[in-house]
Amino acid sequence: MKGNPSTLFRQKELAMGLSKAISRIASELEDDVKIMNFCGTHEWTITHFGLRTLMPKNIELVAGPGCPVCITPGYYVDTAIRLALDGVRVFAYGDTYRLPGRPRSDGPKTLEEAKSRGADIRIVYSVRDAIRIAKADGRDSVFLAVGFETTAPATLSPLVNGSVPENLTFINVHRLTPPIMRYVLDNYPESPIRGVIAPGHVSTITGASAWEFVPKEYGIPIIVTGFEPIDVLIAILEILKQLKEGKPSLVNEYRRAVSWEGNRKAHKMIEETCEIVDSGWRGIGFVPKSGLRFKGKFRRFDSFEIYGIQELTKELWREDLSPGCRCAEITLGIAKPTDCPMFMKGCTPESPYGPCMVSSEGTCSIWARYGGGVMLEEIAEDLGLS
Ligand code: SF4
Repeated sequence: MKGNPSTLFRQKELAMGLSKAISRIASELEDDVKIMNFCGTHEWTITHFGLRTLMPKNIELVAGPGCPVCITPGYYVDTAIRLALDGVRVFAYGDTYRLPGRPRSDGPKTLEEAKSRGADIRIVYSVRDAIRIAKADGRDSVFLAVGFETTAPATLSPLVNGSVPENLTFINVHRLTPPIMRYVLDNYPESPIRGVIAPGHVSTITGASAWEFVPKEYGIPIIVTGFEPIDVLIAILEILKQLKEGKPSLVNEYRRAVSWEGNRKAHKMIEETCEIVDSGWRGIGFVPKSGLRFKGKFRRFDSFEIYGIQELTKELWREDLSPGCRCAEITLGIAKPTDCPMFMKGCTPESPYGPCMVSSEGTCSIWARYGGGVMLEEIAEDLGLS
């Protein structure tokens, strides 16, 4: 197919044709089918373009754990706040500025609140900005490094090439996505996921091959796909076709960006600097081999090591969502934002109560901004789909 991809992948006629094909195959399936779109950007595409309104009644699209800010344990936010109040400068991405720490009655609950109490918190666009500022004034600084496989190489590259000054260390909250996918499939059989739309950005680093275990070990189709509406509809159609034929497999629809083996340079960088450890996920708990921790000579960049702070362990783990917040169930595909009584009442994008309402990739925030809830149900009713 030739032409501008962003135009081609938004063609209305093509979308309607795919939607008809999805409805036809769905009508031939006996059961309801729950499909998890792992990543926050896919959730944005689905909600922004109203793709749920095109789904037949027996097809449910649920969001997954693919928002790195939403799953960052409150412990790390609290650690950054504590250091900032002790006079260490904290660099952070904008998405984490209003991310709440663990529920408690005293002290600032977010970096934003800490800043209003005089702490030096700087929002930066990249690690390079933090390095430049830290080098210029030599002040003790910490970077709250949050992200998945996509973000990790950008954090780790300056460490490998020796451009990070001694006064800058990292709260390393990088998380790995295949282990949490495995965790979801292992732990929630009562809410079975029948197909998965794999994260596109992450797969550019991991490679499509990282998802081979899903059809092999769980007998579930998984499609690596892009972020345009047509990409997502093709993925749904392919999942349904595979379910109908009883031949689950991994398909890489996003070959314009994702290779089979991924970014080898990034893999090497991660291997050189970090070990893979069991790690905490907000509201969920500890997930085996799902996080990165600095190793060897790179431990000198670990804020926990340098400031003598205890790393989060299974033993230290405790509930880190505010009472009533259902973010954990939402990131596990068990609930949707409109199931939370606080959605658009006590919790809004302007005044977020839980982590899924903070980041632009959070499901609650996306539904709040693009009417994924009540509005969607009304449209579906108008179209005779509910
Ligand atoms: Fe948590 Fe707010 Fe979402 Fe409810 S609406 S689940 S409180 S983020």
